[in-house]
Amino acid sequence: MPDTMSDQMKGEKVYRGIAVSSGICRGKVLVMHRARHFISRRRVDDQNVDAEIKRFEQSLAQTRVQISEVQRKVVQNMGAKEGDIFNAHLLMLEDRVLVEEVIKLIREQRVNAEFAFHMVAERYIEALAGVDDEYLRERASDMQDLTGRVLDNLLEVLDEFDFRHINEPCILVGHDLSPSLTAQLNKDFVLGFATDIGGQTSHTAILARSLDIPAVVGLQVISEELETGDYALLDGYNGTVTVNPTDQTLFEYGQLAKRKASLDEKLREIKMQPAVTLDGKVISLSANIEGRQDVEAVRAHGAEGVGLFRTEFLFINRENLPNEEEQYQVYQEVASRLTPQPVIIRTLDLGGDKFASTLQLAKEMNPFLGWRAIRFCLAQPEMFRAQLRAILRASAHGRVKMMYPMISGLDELRQANALVEKCREELRAENIPFDPEMKIGAMIEIPSAALIAHALARHVKFFSIGSNDLIQYTLAADRTNERVAHLYEPTHPAIIRLIKNTVDAAHQNNIWAGVCGEIAGDPVLTPLLIGLGVDELSAAPPVVAPVKYMIRRLKFAETQALAEFALQSDSPSEIHARCEQLAHASAPSLFEKN
Ligand code: PEP
Ligand code: MG
Repeated sequence: MPDTMSDQMKGEKVYRGIAVSSGICRGKVLVMHRARHFISRRRVDDQNVDAEIKRFEQSLAQTRVQISEVQRKVVQNMGAKEGDIFNAHLLMLEDRVLVEEVIKLIREQRVNAEFAFHMVAERYIEALAGVDDEYLRERASDMQDLTGRVLDNLLEVLDEFDFRHINEPCILVGHDLSPSLTAQLNKDFVLGFATDIGGQTSHTAILARSLDIPAVVGLQVISEELETGDYALLDGYNGTVTVNPTDQTLFEYGQLAKRKASLDEKLREIKMQPAVTLDGKVISLSANIEGRQDVEAVRAHGAEGVGLFRTEFLFINRENLPNEEEQYQVYQEVASRLTPQPVIIRTLDLGGDKFASTLQLAKEMNPFLGWRAIRFCLAQPEMFRAQLRAILRASAHGRVKMMYPMISGLDELRQANALVEKCREELRAENIPFDPEMKIGAMIEIPSAALIAHALARHVKFFSIGSNDLIQYTLAADRTNERVAHLYEPTHPAIIRLIKNTVDAAHQNNIWAGVCGEIAGDPVLTPLLIGLGVDELSAAPPVVAPVKYMIRRLKFAETQALAEFALQSDSPSEIHARCEQLAHASAPSLFEKN
């Protein structure tokens, strides 16, 4: 509820964006500002110089106390190694050369402490960022973090943008939220989030869905217009954020929440049932995960194993890269906990919008078209080898399968398979057990791969269509850019034909084809995908049950007729309308008026 009279008088305002993770939440807003500090140069009178220096030293002491407190909490919640990250910050605070330089500037130029400190700190950051040594370069971001904290204290700005010490449930609002920051969100404190930019299939959106945090992106100006402490209602079904909601709005949302609760009851009833159509067509329905923490959700939502394990999340948000042993521990734990259900582990898909800070990769003009995924792995055979060996070793503990991301042609597939063969030989020689029959597949997410699926099918045991990338590459529409979101059309005839081509090539070569991009979790598109002959769907755990509900209310013959229509049509909107028609008629409760 708005808690002051003036909040109520501000009036309701609705922001519309793109709904990326369902659910409704309401609460106080916490705005993460991009540039928090506006530093002006002020003249300090002679008699106030000492006081200004004292103010500066006090801010350092205050920062020291805060960092030690954050460090203590991080050690407690995440571990000693994570806590060590802050030792560098503390050391910098003790750096007398830096401190003396700032004091000299205040004294000699009669300037305010924040101006002097900012000048000196920026020089340090620039110098650190420019050195060759990787370790020192990393200290530049520590210095940046530290500078922000000291300036917060000097300017008496509340430190709002540090997930580690959010201690009250809130709705996060920001210009953007990187996948690595999203991965750190604590569900107990983050009710939902809203950002100015982003699209349905950005990795940030994907993470929000798997964390089950309601989220709306592409709100354009929300981070500039909202203030920390505003009261808002976020609707992750319809993609809106309502600031200062009226009593009427709150009442309507109460009703919506009730309807959603009744749907949840229906989903609970079927979630452990098989995914089979009314006329007996069985679909394999699995879940997408990002780490061992998601295993429970796979089971709880009634998925039949894992259709996509995005392993790159083991590589980001950390100080060093995971070695073979560490990876093996994770893969084997996931595989054995889910046995006898299958787990498809995707080899590393770094790049695009997912980066490991440890790797310090050069910035690229077009990262989605650049040194990414299998391209990167084939160029780093030692790193790839560690992952391949870890996956092979894990295959001795469950039903592990493996697939390569971003295959664009036959050569990449051959090279990757040759490396796997080498790893198998090594393991045999070392007497380390693995499943010699472990099935290897290719993701089909580049148009060239979909077009030559017949050739690729002879070298793999399955295909998994990565529609998120397949759509962005086919339609030249960046999946993370809300300005081109209207062009990002899953029902574009080109996409439908590429999926059909892939599925046909798979079946003609006696292998199966699945879809693991976000369209696999959209019940409106379920009839179309099944009608196109897709054998498996893999979606974020929370949307597995709605998709299963849909499958169980469809007739395969009807979906085939829909697919026939779609393959003849030239109009994305006409195809989408037909999909909606069949989906709504088959399972109306999934779409009750929001
Ligand atoms: C895809 O591209 O559809 C996919 C599943 O891979 P990711 O979203 O991780 O790029
Ligand atoms: Mg992809």
